[in-house]
Amino acid sequence: MIEPGTAARYKSLRDPDIRAVERFGERAARLGALAGLGLPVPRGIVLPTDLVAEIAVAGAAAVVGHDIGALVHALADGALLAVRSSAPRRDWGGPPAILNIGLTDATLPAVAALVGERAALDLYRRLLQSYATGVAGLDPEDVEAILLDRVKLAGAAGEEALDAGALAALVQDYKTFLQDEAALAFPADPAEQLFAALDAAARGWAGPSARLLRTARGAPEDAGLALIVQRMALGLGPGMSGAGIAHFVEERSGAPGLSGRYLAQAQGQDALMGLRTPQVLTRAERAGASGPALEDAAPVAVAALVAAGAVIARGMGDIYTLEFTLQDGMLHILDATPARRSPRAAVRIAVELAEAGAITRAQALLRIEPRSLAEHLHPQIDPGHRRDPIGRGLAASPGAASGRIVFSAQAAMQCAAQEISAILVRVETSPEDIRGMHSATGLLTVRGGMTSHAAVIARGLGLPCIVGAGDIRLDLKAGTLKAADGRIFREGDEITVDGSRGEVLAGTARTVPPELSGAFAKLMGWADATRRLQVRANADTPADARVSRGFNAAGIGLCRTEQMFFDADRINVMREMILADTREARQRALDKLLPMQRSDFEELFEIMRGLPVTIRLLDPPLHEFLPVNREEMRDLADLMDIPVSQVIQRAESLQEFNPMLGMRGVRLAVTMPEIYAMQARAIFEAVLAVNARGGAPVTPEIMIPLVSAHREVELVKGHIDAVAAEVSAEHGVPLPYRLGVMVETPRAALRAGDLARTAQFLSFGTNDLTQMTYGLSRDDAGRFMRDYVNQGVFPEDPFHALDLEGVGELLLIAAQRGREANGDLVLGLCGEHGGDPASVRFCELAGFDYVSCSPFRMPIAQLAAAQAALLARGEG
Ligand code: PEP
Ligand code: MG
Repeated sequence: MIEPGTAARYKSLRDPDIRAVERFGERAARLGALAGLGLPVPRGIVLPTDLVAEIAVAGAAAVVGHDIGALVHALADGALLAVRSSAPRRDWGGPPAILNIGLTDATLPAVAALVGERAALDLYRRLLQSYATGVAGLDPEDVEAILLDRVKLAGAAGEEALDAGALAALVQDYKTFLQDEAALAFPADPAEQLFAALDAAARGWAGPSARLLRTARGAPEDAGLALIVQRMALGLGPGMSGAGIAHFVEERSGAPGLSGRYLAQAQGQDALMGLRTPQVLTRAERAGASGPALEDAAPVAVAALVAAGAVIARGMGDIYTLEFTLQDGMLHILDATPARRSPRAAVRIAVELAEAGAITRAQALLRIEPRSLAEHLHPQIDPGHRRDPIGRGLAASPGAASGRIVFSAQAAMQCAAQEISAILVRVETSPEDIRGMHSATGLLTVRGGMTSHAAVIARGLGLPCIVGAGDIRLDLKAGTLKAADGRIFREGDEITVDGSRGEVLAGTARTVPPELSGAFAKLMGWADATRRLQVRANADTPADARVSRGFNAAGIGLCRTEQMFFDADRINVMREMILADTREARQRALDKLLPMQRSDFEELFEIMRGLPVTIRLLDPPLHEFLPVNREEMRDLADLMDIPVSQVIQRAESLQEFNPMLGMRGVRLAVTMPEIYAMQARAIFEAVLAVNARGGAPVTPEIMIPLVSAHREVELVKGHIDAVAAEVSAEHGVPLPYRLGVMVETPRAALRAGDLARTAQFLSFGTNDLTQMTYGLSRDDAGRFMRDYVNQGVFPEDPFHALDLEGVGELLLIAAQRGREANGDLVLGLCGEHGGDPASVRFCELAGFDYVSCSPFRMPIAQLAAAQAALLARGEG
């Protein structure tokens, strides 16, 4: 079955069509690009995937025999050939290369004349070795055993020390072995060797084990394989001959500079196999390595490598690692793979390529995985550090911190006072722990999910945090932490929290500091100039606000006012207010809270001058504020001047079965309007105080939480308007404000049209909305989330990555209904998803105006927004 047309179907490596990765594979496409840049790639042809599939069925001799003969002749011109695989994606694998095809007893003298007798025999035995494993399918260990026997027989120190005679004998050994074990006569015709190599590669790829292997790596079952038939660059022989690998950037930092390994008289990946100690490439690398650098012996070849690196960066828009061979001093490039790079290096490389004009700024922005920016924002464990894991949980807040184990907020504060780093370890955290969290350098909880109290607060503080570390046992009475492997740690022992990976480590880890200047700052500048979507901050404290300004926040999108009441000097006043049983008593407590709130707001408005600040009115699930132990009850009784028994009784009367669905958010205002009235007054008085100092005037945004009915909004608006009128009359100044509603119940989403008639903006609280859409407790989901994700029930934790199908649909419905009712409606999202790249993309596509997230996640959201804008504009 000779097909006269096959010659037209395979292509030279220099043909521009070769860049079609799906047909010719990644390696061929890359070599084609290198050849196109004029770089020294050995000549070759590529058999596309469809042709290789035919070879797998009918055999190379039948499919291409007639055509390839002439081509091979022209290609080889008496030289040797290699068959290399080229899968559409390199990581799908492929059969190993077969090198030195064309060596036969008859051609040996010609090759020996070129490279010397010993080198020629060495090439010959290498061909036989790979023929035995790759073509005849014999056991590599048996093949190796023959080599070792021969080494022993020759009394040589290793295969490298075999002389020409021993190598000739080894060639014979392999031929006999092939005959005995596989009933194969080693082909004396180069074309036959080539066909056998092609058949083996094509059939191997079509076979069941290769199929299984590649599908495990994400390849489709029927993925094709292209094959490259290429002239050998020998690496063995006279002069500077050998093989090596060249890197053009430093993997961790992305700093440019040539480095690598080179092994004289070697082929393929020998330089990495540890047969002999390889040489470094440059003198600069030699520190610590022994022997001369390649640069000393072959300065011209090294200069050619440096030049090739520069040409490739400019011509292909990325930095590659090169596999190369020197044949008698001449450089040949055999392969190029994208340089390995740490997340920080990736940013530096992309920015430097864009600045050099090798890629556009848009390409640089699109190249960086937004989440990887977390590596710049927080200290990270030095990749060279030996990790000793003792437990795992959810990676709730990135970065790494080491410190002494403490089991209480109190102990964390004591450590901070003595400037000792502490890791606060709790079963879960409650608002009482806030000050301890501020004092700790890292946080670890046994329970909790991605939006649990610990996780949300830690992200806000930029504190490395792991939650839901269920394989760790705490015995608080004994003051011990039992690791997954049974090791016991006590208070005071050092541990490390790696919040980027969700891994708890024993001991102190070496870290690398954050890196916010240089390439990172440039990339963020480009992202800001590219995106449409605004990125605001979820900021409750002046410190948060300052951090967010540093990250170029477009304002505060969510100030959770309840967070302002957890300080020791405030919480009891707050409790007094909550436990008050008469309106008068409550008003007395509120009067005490008013100046505190006013000064909080003044500070935030001042820091955020010129930018919108969205104050969310109180949304405390009451249980978070109730006193929990006797001591707290007694303190409160003193403050309120009532017996402890009464405090206990009132606290009990406020207990709820489902606090997250109970007296929260706007429900508090409907039953006790004076609370929001106090907050509104504090906001307006703070506005007046700040505006009186001149500068850009503040227009506050006031947001109502946990709304489910339009009437709730009307009621609250009525109260706020009344306060605004009152304060305005007192000072003779108008007090405009913008009213917003949080859409965080499914009903609010469905009735967004009503809400938008009264509100100027809607902000999606996707934490609660996810909780209520799934009926899934945000505080308890951590316990089973891993099982749910592992078993494919959820593709990802929906508190982490927005559920586009369910919650997303509610958002779209709400956006549409809201906009229909109010053409000027502003739409934002302020749940934790505001810092999740896929959710940010969704918000861009849905045409929202802003997302709001923890300050330390803002760069991630900003880059994700820029990428989404580029994709939406078709520039991706
Ligand atoms: C939300 O529910 O998404 C939200 C932002 O509010 P909180 O997390 O404070 O409930
Ligand atoms: Mg909420």
